[in-house]
Amino acid sequence: MKLSKIFIPTLKEVPSDALIPSHQLMLRAGMIRPLGAGIYSFLPLGYRLMKKVMEIIRDEMDGIGGQEFHLPALNPVELWEETDRVKAFGDTMFHIKNRALVLAPTHEEVICSIAKNHIRSYRDLPQIWYQIQTKFRNEARPRSGVIRGRQFLMKDSYSLDATWPGLDASYDAHAQAYKNIFTRVGLKFFIVGASSGAMGGSASQEFMVESEAGEDTCAICDGCGYAANIEVAASAVPGALKNGESAAVEEIHTPGVKTIDELREFLKVDESVLAKSLVYMAGQRPVMILMVGNDQLNESKLQVVLGADARPAHPDELKALTGADGGSIGPIGLDGFRIIADKRLEGANNLISGANKNDYHLRNIDLKRDTKIDAYYDLRTALAGEPCTTCSKPLRVIRAIELGHIFKLGTKYADAMKASFLDEHGKEKPIIMGSYGIGVERVIACHIEQSHDKNGIVWTKGLTPFHVHLVLVNANNAKITAVANDLNEKFEALLLGVLYDDRGDVSPGFKFKDADLLGMPLQVIVGEKHVANGNVEVKHRATGEREIIEIGKVVQYVEKYYES
Ligand code: ATP
Ligand code: MG
Repeated sequence: MKLSKIFIPTLKEVPSDALIPSHQLMLRAGMIRPLGAGIYSFLPLGYRLMKKVMEIIRDEMDGIGGQEFHLPALNPVELWEETDRVKAFGDTMFHIKNRALVLAPTHEEVICSIAKNHIRSYRDLPQIWYQIQTKFRNEARPRSGVIRGRQFLMKDSYSLDATWPGLDASYDAHAQAYKNIFTRVGLKFFIVGASSGAMGGSASQEFMVESEAGEDTCAICDGCGYAANIEVAASAVPGALKNGESAAVEEIHTPGVKTIDELREFLKVDESVLAKSLVYMAGQRPVMILMVGNDQLNESKLQVVLGADARPAHPDELKALTGADGGSIGPIGLDGFRIIADKRLEGANNLISGANKNDYHLRNIDLKRDTKIDAYYDLRTALAGEPCTTCSKPLRVIRAIELGHIFKLGTKYADAMKASFLDEHGKEKPIIMGSYGIGVERVIACHIEQSHDKNGIVWTKGLTPFHVHLVLVNANNAKITAVANDLNEKFEALLLGVLYDDRGDVSPGFKFKDADLLGMPLQVIVGEKHVANGNVEVKHRATGEREIIEIGKVVQYVEKYYES
């Protein structure tokens, strides 16, 4: 492919609204252009990469018996009402109001509707159905370029099984296919246990790339390899211990004291004897949540306990329900509340909490004796440095980008949509589903996040738009032009994929800058000095290392490089 013909509008300057390296470099390398917030056009170079990623994904999906579909992005809204997900997605789903249609953010419903009509017997199962198709999500703050688009390409697949061990096998097959895909595209990734969120279901894992630009946070143990999304991560932080014999509850005057820090200062006590109380509404029912001191309530963990609809009570609701404002509420003397507590509080006594009366707290609370705690759950957010639950080594907390997500959905969708089959005894049962996604643009952006330098992108053997960037240093010199033209033909014939900078109106310096920016792993430089001796120069983009190779041997050299 000749650079004089292919449309690759490179930019010298860093676009001011692009904040992270992958976004900046995809713009600068002429791969993408923005059309609106979270909406991108993929230009020929960008689309070439997309096609490479799709090719690898298709290969691995076909390898686990996946069958490729192409499902409509336009869906009747009623379909999504069957599973109550119009509500679950809320503003994230785009609605086409004049037609009662939505733009699908994912495809469980469509898959389930097909399965419902055509899967009759256990003999029709298992199935793995997949597609690579455009998804639409009205993401609240699309930033980070194509990592969070409002329109993006996803490989989504769905497993349909008759049995739970069958689901496990489909899930494991996907996990392996995902490992193969991300390894083949040359990404350094790790796998974390994750929360199933609005998708429902039981087990779920995410494939992550460590990156400062990530919007996810993960806790990692370098000791034993434990890794979890912070949404579910646990740590072995000690419980709030039993503090001697339980004394009688006493009211204490705490004028103006509102926060845990103020209370600790005022009473000169350790934070671990302070129980912080928070109130959420789960439907009509108020729920009080007790946490130790300043432990942070983890919204995802709470969602698993209370359901996706739960929300913090408004200040006026709080006052009406407890008789006090936020800083003075507590678990004693409440009516109609469900009370739950973080696991650290299990067995704790002589605690201090709000008195449900402004400017007053209670001391010597024994949770078992004085309150009606419904249950104890792990509700806190794990922190860096806390001990790993498996090996006690300190956890690291890092930022990461989610590349892919695999879920065991179970029968949630089949139950809602009545997608059933007859088992070997003729008994009707719901189809057991799994759902699995990979963001195609994210694979490309993550590769750039992981592999770039100050001069531009550094593609790797696994993912590169072209294998070679061939630079004709001076197009006015007939001799070197002939050598470069000949090499270009040879590279093309060998299907290596070559980007040939044959431009006549561009200085050598500019060509070298573009070659570094576009980032092909190998640059073959055809210039007067070396050609005079029968050689060309090969530059390795990643290391900057240069080698002088005989003209007649350079094609073989490149082939060998990609073989190893
Ligand atoms: P996130 O938490 O980042 O919003 P998600 O949990 O909503 O992701 P899934 O619904 O599991 O994502 O989608 C599967 C995959 O699709 C993700 O792992 C990610 O690679 C990709 N993806 C999701 N949302 C976007 C988006 N807005 N832009 C680009 N890719 C996306
Ligand atoms: Mg999302």
